[in-house]
Amino acid sequence: MLTGSCLCGAVRFAIHGKLGPVAHCHCRTCRKAQGGAFVTNAPVRRKYFELLAGADAVIEYQSSPGKWRGFCRTCGSPVWSRRANDPDILRLRLGTLDGDPERGPLAHIWVSEKAPWFEITDDLPQAPTDGAELQAATER
Ligand SMILES: [Zn+2]
Ligand SMILES: [Zn+2]
Repeated sequence: MLTGSCLCGAVRFAIHGKLGPVAHCHCRTCRKAQGGAFVTNAPVRRKYFELLAGADAVIEYQSSPGKWRGFCRTCGSPVWSRRANDPDILRLRLGTLDGDPERGPLAHIWVSEKAPWFEITDDLPQAPTDGAELQAATER
């Protein structure tokens, strides 16, 4: 079983199923939300996601219409994002995981909004926006 937490440990969760496709997202809002060049995330079905602690510790910020980003009110760790039009899915921030999800990144997405000071040096596919064309064949 895969587990994860925020930095201070107030928010803890377990994953009881497989994660969806892992991607490095370079979009402007992810960069701002993480404070880094990109964020590595993966979708997980809500039925596989168990919040073990911290339901009252998570604050959600609506970063664009219909999209919320959940983070710990104490330590600020970003934990998930969710969309109103995709209610079955949480997008997990993989840096919060304790163990190995045994799935590696498949692509860089939103490369059109990449930080100018960061150079992508691997050979993963790059998508200018959400990478739907790259992920069509993967689990949702
Ligand atoms: Zn925390
Ligand atoms: Zn993003």
